[in-house]
Amino acid sequence: MKHLYNCSLGKDSVAELILAKKQNVPIDRIVFADLQDADFPQMKEHLFKVQDYIGTEIEVIKAPFTFNEKFFQPVTKGNYVRPYRGFPPTVGCSCWVKRDMKITPIERWTKQNDLSGYVRHFGFAKGEEERLARLPDGVSLLIENGITENQAREICEDAGLLNPLYRYFDRLGCWLCPKQSLKSWRSLWLNFSDLWQKLKYYERFCIWKLTPRYTTNEMEERFIREAEVWQKTEKEKQDKDFATTYVYGKTDAP
Ligand code: SF4
Repeated sequence: MKHLYNCSLGKDSVAELILAKKQNVPIDRIVFADLQDADFPQMKEHLFKVQDYIGTEIEVIKAPFTFNEKFFQPVTKGNYVRPYRGFPPTVGCSCWVKRDMKITPIERWTKQNDLSGYVRHFGFAKGEEERLARLPDGVSLLIENGITENQAREICEDAGLLNPLYRYFDRLGCWLCPKQSLKSWRSLWLNFSDLWQKLKYYERFCIWKLTPRYTTNEMEERFIREAEVWQKTEKEKQDKDFATTYVYGKTDAP
């Protein structure tokens, strides 16, 4: 029996690989769905790091077009005919990035490769048994070993293989995902200004709002307001701390 691992480079799928290596479970093939320009550029670097540690080549599967190309394709049929496809909508239908740049290329690759005789590993942690049960040939060492998402993160940290993007985001996905949380948008604005500018550029060609509540300008206004309140509160706190210390004679007067 051969073993194939689906790896997204998130903490759970990487922990599945680390565990397999530790438990001497064969790692015959690893596949990664490359979302190209919809992925954070840092993903590639992490892919090579994981590959070096595991010692098995990671096969990269990708769509024959980029996000940018598909974004600017006209939509000529259906209820929403428009000059450019634009961002995936947040309601009403499935995400075209996921469907066309991930699921379809993986299905095509699966058909082109004879995978009979392979066990397929998915990085599902304890609590995700139902998701795994929907995949007839799927297994998960994390579930078999009762490993939670937090423990999966620790496994990656211990091996030095926690994706560095977790420094900025709780969950990993496309940098432009319209479904991400406000916290995640804030982090993108604050830490990835080049991608934020790209987002603003794309927004000009999309007929609907990026998120149900905000445009990028509206988010920026909100983030700036929040930063000002935070700075003011911090300054007041520091002034208060200093005054308290000074009154009680724990420091010299300036
Ligand atoms: S992260 Fe968001 S944009 Fe990317 S594939 Fe998933 S749902 Fe679509």
